[in-house]
Amino acid sequence: MLRIGVGGIWQETNTFVPRATTLRDFENYLLAEGPALLDAVRGTGTELGGAVAFAEQNGVQPVPLCFGAALPSGVVDGRAFATMLRALVGRARGAGPLDGVVLALHGAMVVEGCPDPELRVVTALRDAIGDVPVAVTLDYHANVGPDLPRAADFLVGYRTYPHVDMAERGAEAVELLVRRIGRPYRTPYAFRKLPLLTVPLAQEGAAEPMRSLLRAVGDLTRRPGVWTASALPGFAYGEGDRLGFGVYVSAVHGAHGHAADLAEQIWSQRENFTCDLVDADAAARATASGPGPVVLVDVADNVGGGSPGDGTAILHALAAAGAQGSVSVLWDPVAVAAAERTDGDLVALPVGGRSDPSMGTPFPLSGPARRLGRVGYTRTGSYMRGQRVDMGRVVVVDAAIGTVVLTQHRVVPFDDDHLRVLGVEPRAARSLVAKGAIAWKAAFGGYAARTLQVRTPGYCPAALDQLRYRHRPTPLFPLERDPAWEAAVAAGLRG
Ligand SMILES: [Zn+2]
Repeated sequence: MLRIGVGGIWQETNTFVPRATTLRDFENYLLAEGPALLDAVRGTGTELGGAVAFAEQNGVQPVPLCFGAALPSGVVDGRAFATMLRALVGRARGAGPLDGVVLALHGAMVVEGCPDPELRVVTALRDAIGDVPVAVTLDYHANVGPDLPRAADFLVGYRTYPHVDMAERGAEAVELLVRRIGRPYRTPYAFRKLPLLTVPLAQEGAAEPMRSLLRAVGDLTRRPGVWTASALPGFAYGEGDRLGFGVYVSAVHGAHGHAADLAEQIWSQRENFTCDLVDADAAARATASGPGPVVLVDVADNVGGGSPGDGTAILHALAAAGAQGSVSVLWDPVAVAAAERTDGDLVALPVGGRSDPSMGTPFPLSGPARRLGRVGYTRTGSYMRGQRVDMGRVVVVDAAIGTVVLTQHRVVPFDDDHLRVLGVEPRAARSLVAKGAIAWKAAFGGYAARTLQVRTPGYCPAALDQLRYRHRPTPLFPLERDPAWEAAVAAGLRG
């Protein structure tokens, strides 16, 4: 029986967030090793959940190493990374002979003192247990550098956004390893990096230009001799040398030509990664009439992109417009504690805007409150199905503008279970404030009547010139534009 190790370290790092990501943040989200890791991922719609299921259905023994994942936030503390890497490598060393390893790595992690952490994981593992085949799963938002494709046998990036194919990609990684094991040579690959920066709002899988590009990737994976292919738009909020759009093809022949074709197609679409934003006041007024629920997309305060989730711009706009029937979630542990200390049903307290003055002034919230204590739930939707989520302590306030949910922990709108578990019915809302760019569509997309993308403060702005990059490659489209350079990039893809 083949034995395949499973593990990884997974975080999308937003380098504009001033707060470091610590070991505690991984412990709060998911940090498990050995048999506890299998228990944590089995049956979930995640990469390792898919890898374990595929292995067990195909007579392969999954050997759990260590896996740490944290919600997107600031740069990862170097000691936290070293601790998890030590556990991963130690488990691999002690696991007995392994025929291969699947690593679930995000690809846009930034670690203090480590220029390419995903590469570091692969090389540390190989240094410890020898040259076993390694397949790496990557987020769509991976910022891949030139060395990772060389170090790993296969890279397998998600091909959906919202990312509803995580488990499929984990299964694909095991399948590739099974095909690879026993062959004397690794399959040739080609990797292309485009100097193209795109924001999440412009990367939706069901919208152009990504819809056509993802279809091209899917078609490519079905070509004879092609083992796997990925288009990786990347994460504009993780500064560093690895910014840009990546293309990866693994094929027994023609990998370079296929990668060049795909890269040319992407580069030809560079002007089309655009997004339309509306001001918060106009968006709030627009919720008064017409079909509902209207999703007010709080673009820049995207919790799944590392923003804190305590921005108040849309709440203020809803109040100014006299709007009713809205549903919003705000991360504010201080307000949760204050509401829990208040006697009686009614609370009146300032909420939000605490993490950074730029997130907006606190919103004066008042109304009857339900204090729910600590709330957890299991995701039932299409995104990370089966995963346990801990919202921490929760207070729900019925205010004039509608329902405001205050949470102790940051909550990502990847599902609508986080509202229904509180007795809040999102389908019945006039408007839903979604602190995300695209991923919320996995939660509310099925019944949203209208969508308004709102210009708000936060660490994930849709306008890249709002960010002060300290460290990035130049030139990068669209921050730099020059017809001669752009033509040279296109010509160079054939080189
Ligand atoms: Zn992503």
